[in-house]
Amino acid sequence: MNEVAARQDADNRTDVDVAVIGAGFAGLYALHKLRNDLGLSVQAFEQGSDIGGTWYWNQYPGARSDTEVTAYCYSFDRDLFDQWRWSQRYPRQPEILSYLAMFADRYDLRRSIAFDTTVLSATFNEQTSRWELQTDTGDRWTAQFLVEGVGLLSSTNLPAFPGQDRFAGEIYHTSRWPHHPVDFHGKRVGVIGTGSSGVQVITEVAPEASHLTVFQRTPQYIVPAQHGPLDPGLLARIDAHYDEYWRGVLDSITAFGFDESDVPAATASEEEREAVFERQWNSGGGFQFMFATFNDIGTSREANNAATAFIRRKISQIVSDPETAARLTPHDLYAKRPICCDGYYETFNRENVSLVDIKASPIVQFTERGIRTEDAEYDLDVVIFATGFDAVTGNYLKIDHRGRRGLRLRDKWSHRPRTHLGLMTAGFPNLFMIFGPMGPFTNQPPAHEAQVNWIADVVRSVRERGMNAIEPTQDAEDQWIQACDQIAYSTLFPETNSWINGANIPGKPITVMFYMAGMGSYMGQLRDAANGGYADFLFDKQPVGA
Ligand SMILES: Cc1cc2nc3c(=O)[nH]c(=O)nc-3n(C[C@H](O)[C@H](O)[C@H](O)COP(=O)(O)OP(=O)(O)OC[C@H]3O[C@@H](n4cnc5c(N)ncnc54)[C@H](O)[C@@H]3O)c2cc1C
Repeated sequence: MNEVAARQDADNRTDVDVAVIGAGFAGLYALHKLRNDLGLSVQAFEQGSDIGGTWYWNQYPGARSDTEVTAYCYSFDRDLFDQWRWSQRYPRQPEILSYLAMFADRYDLRRSIAFDTTVLSATFNEQTSRWELQTDTGDRWTAQFLVEGVGLLSSTNLPAFPGQDRFAGEIYHTSRWPHHPVDFHGKRVGVIGTGSSGVQVITEVAPEASHLTVFQRTPQYIVPAQHGPLDPGLLARIDAHYDEYWRGVLDSITAFGFDESDVPAATASEEEREAVFERQWNSGGGFQFMFATFNDIGTSREANNAATAFIRRKISQIVSDPETAARLTPHDLYAKRPICCDGYYETFNRENVSLVDIKASPIVQFTERGIRTEDAEYDLDVVIFATGFDAVTGNYLKIDHRGRRGLRLRDKWSHRPRTHLGLMTAGFPNLFMIFGPMGPFTNQPPAHEAQVNWIADVVRSVRERGMNAIEPTQDAEDQWIQACDQIAYSTLFPETNSWINGANIPGKPITVMFYMAGMGSYMGQLRDAANGGYADFLFDKQPVGA
């Protein structure tokens, strides 16, 4: 469809139908859908110098997806799926970035993206029913609809330790990695953090560094990924049943594309459980270990204990030094976003790798030569922060959003984030958040597509009804939050501390931030909202005060 052109207004602002923030998986698809399919004038903004989002920023050694790639891609374009040939089950960062670059070129997206441009503020003008945007380049834009794909895991958590400036060596953060190779040969490297990025970078850098010191706050349950070439049989099956495959993805709990178990662990004998866990350990995958083995690992303490006991035994079998094995062994529940990585525990059998428990002996400061903990000093040439993200809400709250009557999003969300369907929040009309708080806890690209398609239908509906704006009712939002809480508290996830509930960032409210009932159920909620004529939403015809 031919797109509408942007317009210049009397105040020298550029007016478009839709502003999109972010040029990762989500933002790129939103731009394509709204500009190329709906024919709207769309302008996208991206802080980075190029497209890719996560895969632009996280160029650290070892970075790769942990969703099998047949489900970590766009599904709407069958030709694209057929033409693009992935090399591995879990591709590395450069391959995913190339895929997204190809996608941007295929749909001619770059010309609508302002790179190196951060959106600082977004203010809803009730007189005009338009969002007014201010960027760090000084440009001013207005848009009727604001669609934000600012990333669930994108706002970098960079702790500042005393003395950091004095450190004479190099400092990197996994999610702000330089776009040139970093040489670790002959260097003493320290990695702070053992989350998903931490374990990937640790495993990759260990063979290169002269010595690697891992500063671990919380041990993790890590199962092998079993990386390897893509199974041609799987590709052939998807090829023969393409629509069915994607329907299955959207109908599942995790949207990862594997067969989820419908067997409760309690119905299996101890030997059977052991055999199931062993089989999964050998075929790989973190989400697979949690959801393909039994259907109640995340909800039943007994099932969870069986899974953790199995992984703990593996750690003690793999790691030869009993003290190191003990430090690597978690004792909490297996109820965080599951991590997978090949060779992680084996890495601690290397002579050039040592593990420091910074819960027992916290980091006190950086010195000129390295890091000092409460009971020792470590000389280092390079420090890598793998300290993760201010997840889910971080980037939304960095933008100074002001909704109706000047309501600030930061104030509205000061105790906890609030949305309806993880997509919209009352008092902020025409603002859509892709993977906003209280969205599904799933593999992301298929969920991005589903959410953007839903947003496009809403935009169409607003226009067809001759309305100006839409927002959820307060009631709908309250009920959604209540449902998210009820579902989350029927699982074990709120019982552990992690980025999933905000516990990794000091001072951040610790709260439920996901709809944990699974992708299939979430799709049902999206369908119900649309089929019910958006009864839970308020449509505005006349701009207030016009
Ligand atoms: C190493 C790693 C591996 C991962 N593996 C998986 C996986 O296997 N499966 C999975 O489902 N998920 C995975 N994730 C999560 C991953 O973030 C998502 O899969 C997906 O890439 C998110 O896409 P997105 O477009 O929503 O956000 P992002 O890719 O994070 O893009 C958001 C973009 O918005 C930009 N932005 C933010 N705020 C502003 C602003 N104010 N102005 C302008 N631009 C702004 C950012 O610069 C960023 O480029 C992984 C994450 C990491 C870090």
